[in-house]
Amino acid sequence: MMPTMSQVYLDGKFLPPEQARVSVFDRGFIFGDGVYEVIPVFGGRLFRLPHHLARLEASLAAIRLRNPHTVQEWKTIFTRLMAEHGTSDQSIYLQITRGVAPRDHAFPPNAIPTVFAYALPLKYPPAEQLMQGVTAVTSADIRWQRCDIKAIALLANALLRQQAIEQGAVEAILVRDGVITEGAASNIFIVSGDRLVTPPKGPYILPGITRDLVVEIARANKIACEEKPVGIEALRTADEVWLTSSTKEILPITRIDGRPVGAGKPGPMHARMFALYKEYKQAFIQGKVE
Ligand code: PMP
Repeated sequence: MMPTMSQVYLDGKFLPPEQARVSVFDRGFIFGDGVYEVIPVFGGRLFRLPHHLARLEASLAAIRLRNPHTVQEWKTIFTRLMAEHGTSDQSIYLQITRGVAPRDHAFPPNAIPTVFAYALPLKYPPAEQLMQGVTAVTSADIRWQRCDIKAIALLANALLRQQAIEQGAVEAILVRDGVITEGAASNIFIVSGDRLVTPPKGPYILPGITRDLVVEIARANKIACEEKPVGIEALRTADEVWLTSSTKEILPITRIDGRPVGAGKPGPMHARMFALYKEYKQAFIQGKVE
């Protein structure tokens, strides 16, 4: 079923989704040659917009595409898409592909990028997932070596997520060379005692905007937080494990590979960080922080 929305943005036009059409020769369709972003909107305000646009710029530069819009143009597009959902929490999805060209791996010289965006009401994780935590499995990180690019080619992520779901889990925690990288669609934090640890940025993880916010909140509140490699042993013996993403926010993982994490229920550090996160979000909605 199509998500409920009356309009999407495609290449300069606002259209009903069923009228939005992309060529079968679009390189997004043929090669997965494009990048995307997901930007949450809280209380009618685009959350961490400069961070999302900076990551978009980095993704575009990495695949050697020019940003088709200025910041002001993006804001105009987003504002119009957001309007149909009022002030309810929502997310903006946007993707840019290298455009339409005869099928050839080499970049086409004159293709015009395809730009697509829409807004969708946010579906928060069910309350019981926050209260009880979720289940994860570990899987070999079978993705490529540029996971820092928010590429639309998500076949490996989709396979890993599906395998996790078929094992009754919500997320796959990915392991490369004995260390964890991230979730199939999230970043990972572990808690040992009163310290947070999250894998460092680099080519094997997406620099999550929520991850960076959690690190920022930790530092501002004098909570010890290190960005360093997390071995599989450290994951197995952690007191708490969390996943972070723009749409799932900060979710406790309380079972990994069938074994309980710490006490097997969401821990005190999660409660503290989630309260601080919600405080920050509230201040943002009220216009007290940018
Ligand atoms: N890693 C991957 C692979 C993701 O797909 C996502 C977003 N769903 C994240 C991390 C989290 O990033 P963000 O906090 O910016 O949503």
